[in-house]
Amino acid sequence: MTITNVQPFQTRLPAATRPAVKPTQAARAAVARDRYVPSKAVCAPAQAVAAPAVQVTADAGAAIDAALKGEPIKLAVGDTEPRGLAIRELIPRGELRAFEIGMAGQRFEVVIPANTDAQAMLVRVVPMVGKLPAAVQQTIRRVTIQDPTAERIAYATELAGPNNSLLTTTVRRTPEAEGKAKFVISDRAGSFELMMPAGERETWAVAQAFQLRTEIPAAMRGALKQVKIEPGANPMDAQWAETYHTPGFKSAATGGNGQTTFWSGTENLQEEYFLHEFGHVLGQTYSTKNTMVPDGWEDAIAADPTTVTDYAKSSPAEDFAESFWVYLKLLNGQVPRYMPMGPHTVAEFAERFPKRAAVLESIFKGELKPH
Ligand SMILES: [Zn+2]
Repeated sequence: MTITNVQPFQTRLPAATRPAVKPTQAARAAVARDRYVPSKAVCAPAQAVAAPAVQVTADAGAAIDAALKGEPIKLAVGDTEPRGLAIRELIPRGELRAFEIGMAGQRFEVVIPANTDAQAMLVRVVPMVGKLPAAVQQTIRRVTIQDPTAERIAYATELAGPNNSLLTTTVRRTPEAEGKAKFVISDRAGSFELMMPAGERETWAVAQAFQLRTEIPAAMRGALKQVKIEPGANPMDAQWAETYHTPGFKSAATGGNGQTTFWSGTENLQEEYFLHEFGHVLGQTYSTKNTMVPDGWEDAIAADPTTVTDYAKSSPAEDFAESFWVYLKLLNGQVPRYMPMGPHTVAEFAERFPKRAAVLESIFKGELKPH
């Protein structure tokens, strides 16, 4: 396909930087979303993306060195309660050395080539695990360093899967042009690239992108080839402000052509944006008319009595992206944030948006094939 259309999604601006203009309907809707705090009674709790409990600081080297000698260690942490770090070496496995790490109430193994500097490797891996999103951190069982070169680290992570299974993810990092890093992240279901500014949010972003991608059924994930994080704002913002009649429009993320881009740093790499942008990427693959929506989606919009969200009113492409991610969350047994009025189940979605539900159902069942 030759189309270059890449759809934006409006960011949540801090109150002070919101434009002081009369908001349009779409802008009012976006602001309403920003301010809404879901009550637990109505909405399922949001996915945990909280800061990690353990912050391994610049003292990590000394702490790990002492822990290796069996000395009791307390690391500097954000909590009031200090947490311990314990490391013990396990029996070597051929050419590999293995360590058991106890940290913040969990245990995992680190396996490294025997001919590498163990202390240097642990200084690298332990803080890396410490910086993972909490939801991912709890599932780590083993990290195996495959290529320990300073410039191009490659590692495999075994995560706890369903029924005591272990899911292996491999991550390869290569330095790109100045200040940028590229990761290739693979698991059984395929692989994707993450391009981002090099820096300390790397580990968090790798784990977050991986985790968010797992919310999409494996059969669909291949549509997404690349996730980009750009430090600055979307240069197209002024144009979108005109198109959507929303002065001050600021993209949080854009999606299309097998790619999603998150603007203004790692902040916007969040579930609702990720799934919405994936909706654009996916919608495009089902279009035979060079649009961002599956054939028949406009008819569904015309037939159904209302839209899933106010933002969906912006265009058919936004309507599909919003409908897609809300439907996906419901399929996963969760209720999206910001939607106290529902729908709260797939059945309720189908009742309110019957034509949209029919198209989405045929996509998820694999009855409708990508173009
Ligand atoms: Zn969008």
